[in-house]
Amino acid sequence: MTVCLDVVRPEVHSLGKYNAGLTTGEVRERYAVTAIAKLGSNESPLGPSPKVAQALAPTSDLMRLYPDPAGRTLREAIGGRFGMAADRVILGNGSEDLLSVISRAVLRSGDRIVTPYPSFPLHEDYATVQGATVARVAVDERLNFDIPSMKRALREPCRMLIVANPMNPVGSWLDGDGLTEILASVPRGALVVIDEAYAEYARGSSCPDALALLKAFDLNWVVLRTFSKAYGLAGLRIGYGLTSSAGLTDLLDRVRTPFNANAFAQAAALAALADDDHLEAVVSLAVRERERVRAFLEGRHFVVAPSCGNFLFFDCGKPAHAFSEALLAHGVITKPWKQEGYEAFIRVSIGSEAENDQFINAIGELCSNT
Ligand SMILES: *Cc1c(COP(=O)(O)O)cnc(C)c1O
Repeated sequence: MTVCLDVVRPEVHSLGKYNAGLTTGEVRERYAVTAIAKLGSNESPLGPSPKVAQALAPTSDLMRLYPDPAGRTLREAIGGRFGMAADRVILGNGSEDLLSVISRAVLRSGDRIVTPYPSFPLHEDYATVQGATVARVAVDERLNFDIPSMKRALREPCRMLIVANPMNPVGSWLDGDGLTEILASVPRGALVVIDEAYAEYARGSSCPDALALLKAFDLNWVVLRTFSKAYGLAGLRIGYGLTSSAGLTDLLDRVRTPFNANAFAQAAALAALADDDHLEAVVSLAVRERERVRAFLEGRHFVVAPSCGNFLFFDCGKPAHAFSEALLAHGVITKPWKQEGYEAFIRVSIGSEAENDQFINAIGELCSNT
């Protein structure tokens, strides 16, 4: 007997499934490959700082006891890093948890949010669950932010602007002037969310320091960051938000679950944050290798979007689903994009030199066979 599922809200029925790739285990089972380059989820090939393992060694109390629900030590360390008081830092079970917290705290049914397109699906999904509508602003033909269209979209009533900078999946970014122009167009009363999951990789580019620019505006805002990407802690789940005021932090704090940042994650993040040398090694490898992979793809006449992140978004010239399936047979996991209009695009993470070589060789073979 199947009972009708109308008990679940229609907004939930309308959600798409998470576009998850195969795990390395699944690829190994399906294809006879030994070496697998996992380039679908923008993880760090170098993993976390070696100091993280030391921080997690005396594990008994970390497991036995509840974590500090206020995450005081970590919030103070993060605040110190940005010259902000700890009461303007909020911790999450990954920054995606904070996307959910923010949406639940802010969005009413019938609200409208504005976000670039192609989008980070979670930016849209939590809003959809709340009964909000999503106004997508497509990138321009060169895959850069379309600032005039963004400003136009902000002229209509809007509760939240949410922008990843640099943008995922595309990799392109708003520079200081672009971000300033957009912030100046945000209607009063709207919350600005800048998702800086890849900010660490953007050093040395024109991707701006959003915190510095936001100070000039009389707005409520949250800047989201994560330990999942450059800090190499994706499996532990820890991210954070920097907010415009202690009052906003306090209200958002009431919506999260009290122990959303687990004890291992807090201890690991604290150790990771202290190791600047490791971060530097991660970022310089990613930037160097990204430009090597880009040169290869462009040499093969693929259209590759600008990127200051640890990934590239490129037009493979055919249905991405089939292309990435063919890459799997070479042990290379990538992310074929599924959103309308971008079904020929693949997002590939920048891995270790060996993983990137495996990707390059696989593309070389696929293209010589067609
Ligand atoms: C990876 C990513 C996140 C982060 O994820 P968590 O692992 O939940 O911290 C957030 N936003 C964007 C745009 C990302 O690409």
